[in-house]
Amino acid sequence: MSSHDYRQSLVEHRLSRRDLLRTGTAVGLGAASLALSSCGGGGEEGAPATVAPTGEPPRPTPPPGPYVETATGPVSTSDLGFTLMHEHIFMLSEGVAANFPSVWDEEAKKKEAVEVLRRLKDRGVSTLLDPTVLGSGRNVPLVQQVARESGMQVIVATGLYTYDELPHYFQARSVDHMAELFIQDITEGVQGTSVRAAVLKCATDHAGVTPGVEKVLRAVAKAHRPTGVPITTHTEAKSQQGLAQQDIFESEGVDLSRVIIGHSGDTEDIDYLTKLVERGSYIGMDRFGLDVYLPTDKRVAVVARLCEMGYAERMLLSQDFAVYMDSFTPEVQQALGANWNYFHILDDVLPALRQSGVSEEQIRLMTVENPRRIFENVGSY
Ligand SMILES: [Zn+2]
Repeated sequence: MSSHDYRQSLVEHRLSRRDLLRTGTAVGLGAASLALSSCGGGGEEGAPATVAPTGEPPRPTPPPGPYVETATGPVSTSDLGFTLMHEHIFMLSEGVAANFPSVWDEEAKKKEAVEVLRRLKDRGVSTLLDPTVLGSGRNVPLVQQVARESGMQVIVATGLYTYDELPHYFQARSVDHMAELFIQDITEGVQGTSVRAAVLKCATDHAGVTPGVEKVLRAVAKAHRPTGVPITTHTEAKSQQGLAQQDIFESEGVDLSRVIIGHSGDTEDIDYLTKLVERGSYIGMDRFGLDVYLPTDKRVAVVARLCEMGYAERMLLSQDFAVYMDSFTPEVQQALGANWNYFHILDDVLPALRQSGVSEEQIRLMTVENPRRIFENVGSY
């Protein structure tokens, strides 16, 4: 069944998200019957642009060929260009600004974001993946405005960000229900917008795979298989949480080459990193500038070493920066890393990698080709 037919059957038979979930994870329906084509969000070529739910401009018709959903609509994967695969725009404590509006000046922060993303775009970065989800103050209507006004292509995420416990709502409900909500974000749109999530996000930190974290990882896997959208994670590298994530994904039947193990660049443990890539996953060397975890020269040395070992095709470069992250006061943010900003890779990291013997071809893999390949490998299974 082509992706178009598949989507059509959803409409015709009013297949619910619950059905989709059941179908996607059921044994009988494998890649052959559920396979989406290489088209990212899948198969609307030639269909009329649909009316957006919140009075936004109509959703643009997807381009022909493989594409990925962004905050400003579907974008051909060949137009992703230089992509930072793990950057936030705003990262806020869930619910604080909604309850105490005096702590958050949305207009001022929006202006700041538009300005800096315009400059970043002028420097040649075309796309930014923003893995902000529930638990870190996701605000897709705002990100949509920033993307529109700055011209930056922003890929948005669904999932849940916790190191341990779940919000009470999810404590009381099933894994399947959580997965259903993630699928809704991927197939219909996020937070009342027409913006569709194109990546699934989860986290495992020093507390390890707690019952809450495990529920999220399994829900992410259950939403991934029927939709095909890639998974990106947060990990604590020093306690090797990436391997624990791979174990859980594997037990859910996830193809580990669809997974990006995030924050892997926080460690110099080549043995651990080799294990992650040998199991097929991408690794996010994605906190350049966060010297508090590992200084830039050491991060560069690790990437250069892994390039030498032939793993450039499994790495992604990013900074995990945000225009505004309310978990830090400005003083603390400064102390975390003087070079921590959206431009650090362009200004300092790429020159340092070249000096360490990393080739232009390897840099292109880590910044352009790998992101493109990730968003072209999106069939359901
Ligand atoms: Zn992050």
